[in-house]
Amino acid sequence: MQEVQIKKFKKVLVANRGEIAIRVYRALNELGIQTIGIFSKEDKYSLFRTKTDEAYLLNPEKGPIDAYLDIDNIIKIAKAKGADAIHPGYGFLSENPDFVSACKKAGIAFIGPEVEVMYAMGDKISSKQMAIECNVPIIPGVDHAIRDLDEVMAVAEKVGYPVMLKASNGGGGRGMRIVNGPEQMAKEFEEARNEAKKAFGDDKIFVEKYLRNPKHIEVQVLGDKYGNVVHLLDRDCSVQRRHQKVVEFAPAFTISDGVREKIFADAVRLSKHVSYKNAGTLEFLVDADENYYFIEMNPRIQVEHTVTEEVTGIDIVQAQILIEEGYPLNSPEIGIASQEDISCNGYSIQLRITTEDPANNFLPDTGKINVYRSPAGNGIRLDGGTAYTGAEITPYYDSLLVKVIAHDRRFENATKKAIRALKETRIRGVKTNIPFLINVLQSQIWNDGKCTTTFIESTPELFH
Ligand code: ADP
Repeated sequence: MQEVQIKKFKKVLVANRGEIAIRVYRALNELGIQTIGIFSKEDKYSLFRTKTDEAYLLNPEKGPIDAYLDIDNIIKIAKAKGADAIHPGYGFLSENPDFVSACKKAGIAFIGPEVEVMYAMGDKISSKQMAIECNVPIIPGVDHAIRDLDEVMAVAEKVGYPVMLKASNGGGGRGMRIVNGPEQMAKEFEEARNEAKKAFGDDKIFVEKYLRNPKHIEVQVLGDKYGNVVHLLDRDCSVQRRHQKVVEFAPAFTISDGVREKIFADAVRLSKHVSYKNAGTLEFLVDADENYYFIEMNPRIQVEHTVTEEVTGIDIVQAQILIEEGYPLNSPEIGIASQEDISCNGYSIQLRITTEDPANNFLPDTGKINVYRSPAGNGIRLDGGTAYTGAEITPYYDSLLVKVIAHDRRFENATKKAIRALKETRIRGVKTNIPFLINVLQSQIWNDGKCTTTFIESTPELFH
């Protein structure tokens, strides 16, 4: 084992906004580290701004999103204010290898994987290649970018329709198209490439078999700087709308233990293969016969990390920071002596309360929140950052208001706690998806643990 070297951070800049910025400030705070926040002009009155030791305005000329993507300016602020490290949160610059390099160049630690790993795993095609190298199953299709129609037609014919076209750099459920037959291919292929170029700055497209009703199962891993990797069990994130997660839970008791063990082993093997450092998530699809396939790795903290924290008792964000300071997983500070140390305590469910209006095709609502009453009580955790009485909900950012996380020894009881908490919540002034979430949790399919990724679209009762 490499010699352990620890460099404690005094100040860390959080290059993000909203609930995840607050989540990271809290972890830093508990570790005795000073926090530096950044905010756009549009976020001047946002709650997260007030929860950091110091906060700095980003370039107001850039606009609400680009301000948070302005690498030069963020590095400049970090240097000027004496940051030892930067935590990127999720979204924005969290998966941008140029940002990782810029931090390194400025002598600032990046709390996340190495730049080479970001390149290898941040892009769906190259992560498939890594999976092949260590015998982790992938969905039948191609492991390289396709640039001409003949090739895509030949592959689709070979794996059988329906197939899915995917942008290699896609994310957030975007950049994916289902193609049902050869007659649709020319048009879809052309559009997919144009869309990928526009949305992700790169027209790399690949094709794979479309699985009809899979479950989305993912494994949380943690790797230190010395080659040690453990998994923190799994999550079932099958409840999705338009390929985006809505409700998540841990553990994924919805698939058999034998298959779960295989997925854990594959996730750890693949992470070790790329010398993965920090927190990451490996995503898999599992079909009705429990064949499983790796789809991608997210080299960052995820929105749904909370449910894993609840059942394992490990603070993943603190672990991220400690890993970057140089602590090995088995140090007293992180406290994971070996894989056997990870145990599962009960069940945890996360609900994303958003301003999306189910009655209006989930269009995000905006305006002033004039009543905000949050739930509490045994087994309920809230991770928020946007909502309070008087808050103005702007159209610039994602529509997440607060995450409600329920925990209990039994899944049925965690569900009951979650429903109770949703019913306690009062948000007036903007529409929310609360009634829709209650319908999900009261449905039989949910209670039977049988939700697949097509559950929402194929269950019209949820909308009443
Ligand atoms: P993103 O990076 O945008 O989140 P992912 O590759 O993680 O995209 O896929 C997101 C979701 O899209 C999956 O959870 C699943 O519901 C759906 N999906 C992706 N690939 C396939 C596939 N080959 N067949 C069926 N559904 C798929």
